[in-house]
Amino acid sequence: MLSIKNLKASIEDTEILKGLDLEVKPGEIHAIMGPNGSGKSTLASVLAGREDYEVTEGDVKFNGKDLLDLEPNERAGEGLFLAFQYPVEIPGVSNMNFLKQAINSIREYKGEDAIAAKEFLKKVKEKQDLVGLSGRLANRSVNEGFSGGEKKRNEIFQMAMLDPKLAILDETDSGLDIDALKTVADGVNQLRRKDNAFIVITHYQRLLDYIVPDVVHVLSEGKIVKSGPKELALELEEKGYDWLKEDEGVNA
Ligand code: ADP
Ligand code: MG
Ligand code: MG
Repeated sequence: MLSIKNLKASIEDTEILKGLDLEVKPGEIHAIMGPNGSGKSTLASVLAGREDYEVTEGDVKFNGKDLLDLEPNERAGEGLFLAFQYPVEIPGVSNMNFLKQAINSIREYKGEDAIAAKEFLKKVKEKQDLVGLSGRLANRSVNEGFSGGEKKRNEIFQMAMLDPKLAILDETDSGLDIDALKTVADGVNQLRRKDNAFIVITHYQRLLDYIVPDVVHVLSEGKIVKSGPKELALELEEKGYDWLKEDEGVNA
């Protein structure tokens, strides 16, 4: 589904990603952990197509297409979804209009008709229950005045509405209390299918108690320096990241 080979990316002439490789297959959940500043958010932003990053080398295939050749809206149309670490507030745009537009632009990309009002509302009802939003945020502007937990729930709600093939969650757990964390994890677990995949970027092991990953990767200084089974997350929690510096080269 996603195949990243030797990806190098810079911001303002500073190289952040320094030859990153990653393979994600349908049905899998990959966790990416790593110290602050190692390039996790940069990876998510480069995949989503944010403009401030310059890709200097490497190859990214998504469903057989060259992802780096696609515009951000085309990437979304192909089924890529990114939940941001710091969700943006969009005053004056209702959450519902925002979502309807997002759904319709994906449909347009695929050559499908716009979603019917009835179908849209049915979907809203179904998916907001999934994340415990139950109508509270629907009529407000996108993320405006939402609490941290509400923003994160809203991200999962957006994800559920858009039903992506590959969703990247960038520290969706940061700042969440345990109930919101479980809701986010429940949402992901319920959306999980054989034909979609998730990349969960997280600083803390605790999210992975609820979203059980197939593979855990450690990103350090712009590269994946170790990959392993879910137990690797526990080892990282216990030992930190420093031991991996001497361990470079023996990664999976
Ligand atoms: P992580 O998400 O792993 O904490 P980031 O991808 O956010 O790491 O950042 C990686 C590195 O890139 C850091 O050293 C950070 O300071 C730098 N960086 C990120 N965004 C910018 C920017 N807009 N301008 C300059 N440097 C940046
Ligand atoms: Mg960070
Ligand atoms: Mg980050």
